[in-house]
Amino acid sequence: MEALKRKIEEEGVVLSDQVLKVDAFLNHQIDPLLMKKIGDEFAARFEKDGVTKIVTIESSGIAPAVMAGLQMGVPVVFARKHKSLTLTDNLLTSSVYSFTKQTESQIAVSGNHLSDQDRVLIIDDFLANGQAALGLVSIVQQAGASVAGLGIVIEKSFQPGREELVKLGYRVESLARIESLEKGKVSFVQEVRS
Ligand code: 5GP
Repeated sequence: MEALKRKIEEEGVVLSDQVLKVDAFLNHQIDPLLMKKIGDEFAARFEKDGVTKIVTIESSGIAPAVMAGLQMGVPVVFARKHKSLTLTDNLLTSSVYSFTKQTESQIAVSGNHLSDQDRVLIIDDFLANGQAALGLVSIVQQAGASVAGLGIVIEKSFQPGREELVKLGYRVESLARIESLEKGKVSFVQEVRS
């Protein structure tokens, strides 16, 4: 997706060979117009897949997921990373190792919002080692729902997340695929589709 790649080039900050900071438009300040375009692109890529619900993870997955949900006309459920007094019913949980925080945490979704009739599009901001995505896949499976695929805003293709998910049979649609962050520079995977 060209508009996203340009934004990454203009406003992304390479923190190391492994980590890209995009606080200017996705992880702290949010660019609503870009999020709308991202949501439309996810909706177009999954329009024939019978998606009934979108599942994401707080907090940075929420903005792109809501925009996709708006365009697709389906509800969005976000997994919580922290315990909540109101999140008590019929919990579906999974353990996720955070790439950026380097800690293991429990994520949770109320089973009241997912059923075995749902066909779920999983959306997240980044794909690195695939831990967050696999945690969400596990939650969808616990509900007996099916996974239509995964929509990722920024994939770091030099890390193994995509490979793991594809190996398990899941479709992964990433809007920007980064080949390398070496020498402080963002290089994208060359793709026919943009
Ligand atoms: P994974 O679970 O695939 O290893 O990592 C994905 C999660 O870690 C995403 O939800 C995202 O929050 C965070 N993450 C991974 N890599 C990066 C990165 O380079 N930059 C930022 N801002 N977040 C990242």
